[in-house]
Amino acid sequence: MIMNKIKVTIWNEFRHEKTEDEVKALYPDGIHAFIAKNFSVDAPEFEVRLACLDDDECGLTDEILNNTDVLLWWGHMFHGDVPDHIVSKVVDRVFRFGMGFIALHSAHISKPFQRLVGTNGHLSWGENQKELMWNVMPSHPIASGIPEHFELECEEMYGEPFHIPQPDELVFVSWYKHGNVFRSGCCFTRGLGKVFYFQPGHETCRSFYDPNVRKILVNAVRWASPNDIVIPTPNCGFREKIIK
Ligand code: ZN
Repeated sequence: MIMNKIKVTIWNEFRHEKTEDEVKALYPDGIHAFIAKNFSVDAPEFEVRLACLDDDECGLTDEILNNTDVLLWWGHMFHGDVPDHIVSKVVDRVFRFGMGFIALHSAHISKPFQRLVGTNGHLSWGENQKELMWNVMPSHPIASGIPEHFELECEEMYGEPFHIPQPDELVFVSWYKHGNVFRSGCCFTRGLGKVFYFQPGHETCRSFYDPNVRKILVNAVRWASPNDIVIPTPNCGFREKIIK
């Protein structure tokens, strides 16, 4: 089967991994590099590049954004350090050019996610514990090959209420050992672009090692990719008669 090359950029704050031994031990080259390594095995047709907060222009120059089909975003403590003009470029790429955006874990309060969904993305959170993730939309492309439910032995609890608009599609719902539930896999359509929020990925947990999480990320990139979208004229103006 010939697969389309999908240009993927994985963005990460990449600060915890430099300063916290526990995180460094799990993700020595950064969470973004770890996800990229998984993609090189699971989806070699992806053309992957890395970007992080401390790169020039946060690693998101026009050249890079214009050559990104899907942008994955892992941010946690430094959302405010991403300049607004970069956020505007990301949001514009999604709305007008169909770039996919995948918000991982604490990117629920990242500036681009907030701007894309239109709410603050706040949620309840608690200590790390066992999570059961339920596949509530098995027909969805992101759920392809994912069982009815699977277990993550240790994840940070993210619980309802989750301040997001009603997702266009809800693919995963999670239960946590201490009783909370959460909409953990949510799809939104924004302009020409597709947005997926996915809960797992706390920096001291091994979720990105999990085979189901790995598969979901591959599925999500394929789903969010603009593929064959014919981009309409970005600035619409006066038209001569189409039918004379
Ligand atoms: Zn976390």
